[in-house]
Amino acid sequence: MKLDFAYYPGCAAKQVQKEADRAARAVAQTLGITLRDMPRATCCGAVSLRETKPAFSLAVAARILSEAEEGGRHLVTICNTCLQTLSHANHRFQNEPDLLEKINHVLVQVGVRPYQATIQVFHLLWVITDQIDPQFLKSKVKKSLNGLRVAPFYGCHNLRPAEIFAAKAGEEADHLDRLILLLGGQPVAYDGHDKCCGFHVMLSDKTEMRAMLAKNCLNAKKAGAEVMITPCTLCDMSMGSFQGPAEKSIGQPIQLPEMNFAQLLAVAMGLEGSAGLNRLHVSPQATLTARGLL
Ligand code: SF4
Ligand code: SF4
Repeated sequence: MKLDFAYYPGCAAKQVQKEADRAARAVAQTLGITLRDMPRATCCGAVSLRETKPAFSLAVAARILSEAEEGGRHLVTICNTCLQTLSHANHRFQNEPDLLEKINHVLVQVGVRPYQATIQVFHLLWVITDQIDPQFLKSKVKKSLNGLRVAPFYGCHNLRPAEIFAAKAGEEADHLDRLILLLGGQPVAYDGHDKCCGFHVMLSDKTEMRAMLAKNCLNAKKAGAEVMITPCTLCDMSMGSFQGPAEKSIGQPIQLPEMNFAQLLAVAMGLEGSAGLNRLHVSPQATLTARGLL
């Protein structure tokens, strides 16, 4: 498959987790993956829109997918929730022709090209670990992780439901583990790697959200993790940016450096200038320096 994609980073990567977007672009360029911006794409609306206005959510997804299809490219993202939202809608469009016809009727009314349901939705992590030759990837690694103990936090919206993610679902997912091994690190097994980070309960119950992220991070630390990586800008926000409030909430330090998978990959590829490590809430500098990575 040609590694030329419509790039849908999601609004979190555009507004807050800019370092993940920057690292993803740098890594993709070095690996020969073309990421083409989608100038007309809007926010997908995520879980909130899906639950409150399902038909509207499907129309928004169809409009985004139609833009990718118009350019003749499959879509790639770095947000688990964008991935799930667009994959879920796409699965319905590909299996429910009557629904697609109704949604296309709405698109045509607002001047958008009807969606033909030919697009596939990928995570950039899947492209890197499934579509790039591992030996080629290794050839781009300038600094081995040198045994760094890395906790892979998959999150949940790239794993479930199984029917839309097929072989990549749930317990079968191993993309982050494979990437860590390829980079010379040690994946850390811990309880919580495939659990929810709490992001989507933040507005309704911030105490519960903080307890969820604290539990996942502390389990990873107890299992020996020196850093944590995730494939999702929203997971990054929870497990990284909200560690401070979570520490106050549980009355206990966590202090686990967390970053997007693309940032650690950028460091290993000698692209640390694009990794945005200075924007992280718990600095990994000392740990990475001790391993000869910085
Ligand atoms: S899932 Fe969230 S970050 Fe991604 S586009 Fe939708 S609303 Fe934005
Ligand atoms: S772990 Fe949290 S932010 Fe990540 S995909 Fe799941 S609910 Fe969304």
